[in-house]
Amino acid sequence: MPGDSTRNAVYVGSFDPPTLGHLDIIRRGARLFDRLIVGIGINPDKEPLFSPDERIALVGKMVSDLPNVEISCFDNLTVTFARNVDAAVLLRGVRTVSDIEMEFTMALTNHSLAPDIETVFLMASDKYSHISSTLIKQIARMGPDLAATSLERFVPACVIEPLLARYRKPTER
Ligand code: ADP
Repeated sequence: MPGDSTRNAVYVGSFDPPTLGHLDIIRRGARLFDRLIVGIGINPDKEPLFSPDERIALVGKMVSDLPNVEISCFDNLTVTFARNVDAAVLLRGVRTVSDIEMEFTMALTNHSLAPDIETVFLMASDKYSHISSTLIKQIARMGPDLAATSLERFVPACVIEPLLARYRKPTER
């Protein structure tokens, strides 16, 4: 049904940086929904590695072959963001049992704020379930020689160089 917001989902996160785990959820979500809107959350209390515009550009390169995926930034509640883009589903990825506890609390909170919006979970694929943006930043910090080859297994190719550039010493630039 055209215009049915239950056919549209948002997938929100920091994506700082975006990973192969995120991309896997985006690809699978794009098959399930008519529109999938990737929401890049702006948190004024956190100093991100990549600016919102940089993250939009990185995610944009990753999803360029997925015509029903859109990208947007937001700095308000996830449910408000979902309403603003006409989506009635929050798509989440679950990696571990410990993720579930936090996700469960978040889903209950969002449901009490917006009962018309449902949270839908996809289990992380086994080959990506250990990947997190935090882990990737730790690897990138090891320095370009060590990190470049390992990063291929964790982030899309277009993210590797911008990521390494962030940790290069001024003399190496
Ligand atoms: P945060 O908002 O805490 O920075 P992220 O941007 O890393 O979180 O994650 C956003 C969403 O993507 C969450 O639902 C998270 O569980 C999911 N996710 C993150 N990494 C993976 C992964 N490797 N596989 C599947 N889902 C993931």
